[in-house]
Amino acid sequence: MQKEKVVIIGSGPAGLTAALYTARANLSPVVIAGPQFGGQVALTHEIENYPGFAGGTGPDLIAVMQEQAERFGARIDMDVVLSVDLTHGSPFKVKTGNGEYLAEALIVTTGASPRLLQIPGETEYTGRGVSYCGTCDGFFFRNKHIVVIGGGDSAVKESIFLTKFATQVDIIHRRDSLRAESALQERARANDRIHFIWNTVAEEIKGEDGKVKSVRLRDVVTGKTQDYKTDGVFVFVGHDPNNGLFTDQLKMDEHGYVITDHMMRTSVEGVFAAGEIQDPIWKQVATSVGQGCSAAMAAEQWLSSRESGIPEVPEVKQALESEPSPAHR
Ligand code: NAP
Repeated sequence: MQKEKVVIIGSGPAGLTAALYTARANLSPVVIAGPQFGGQVALTHEIENYPGFAGGTGPDLIAVMQEQAERFGARIDMDVVLSVDLTHGSPFKVKTGNGEYLAEALIVTTGASPRLLQIPGETEYTGRGVSYCGTCDGFFFRNKHIVVIGGGDSAVKESIFLTKFATQVDIIHRRDSLRAESALQERARANDRIHFIWNTVAEEIKGEDGKVKSVRLRDVVTGKTQDYKTDGVFVFVGHDPNNGLFTDQLKMDEHGYVITDHMMRTSVEGVFAAGEIQDPIWKQVATSVGQGCSAAMAAEQWLSSRESGIPEVPEVKQALESEPSPAHR
């Protein structure tokens, strides 16, 4: 079993930032990458709103973050975590596909995954016309007609990207106004290939010969239904936190987000969390980076006060004794 000061579970912006800061604090952290190195950002075709990054793809940004963290001594283990045992306190056991770590401090940055629509045909046709990732699958829809379900930033941003391939992208939204930020809305409305179908929900995805052929739509105002022909269905209806490793071990809110205070401390001493696993609201690269930085600094303070016996600086001690943030109450 490999003993470590800090193990970080997850390799998105929160995890790689926590890695950078704990590496620079001489803690030689290990990042266990998880099933998708770089997290959701690695599947994002364009990052426009992360300050200091003038524009580029998600993988570009992740590569820079990785290089910077490794330069200061962070190690990245391209493995997945199978189980975590927090029951006896620090050090914590972290079992991976290829080994086991004993971590004095743990930083959880496992992120979130796309939510399913949970309608008939969705699972059956996933990978055969149903997708949750424009960057991954857009290419397969060259000169095709597709529908996008959802009205948030993901739905609109991905729709704009998908017009590079598809001749027509219909955004199907259950209300008559979008949730997405105004800048994205404006770009979508100005794009000839994007059309909107308002007040409408998808009830079933239908296909033939293993390929999507249509989606059954219902107008929520009139109640009218129709089978709408399409070659593909992209689903962007939100995300759920990747909390499976921590069920019954860390306190979570009613939606499954790990509860932290503003020092990113969880309900178990020595376990910190950052990024979308604990953020039910903002979910931006910039906020995840900030949270990853806070978690790393809090973990470093906790480890050093534990080793030296000297209490944390008063501001930190006071903050650690404070209540969870209002978002989680
Ligand atoms: P989101 O903001 O939660 O939006 C989900 C959308 O799906 C909403 O429009 C919602 O409708 C709709 N929806 C939910 N359940 C549905 C269902 N069962 N059937 C049909 N429609 C359904 O999720 P998101 O777009 O994935 O974004 C998640 C977070 O990441 C947000 O905080 C967002 O700002 C952030 N993000 C940011 C960027 C960026 O470039 N800044 C890009 C992607 C994501 P209602 O509107 O009616 O609720």
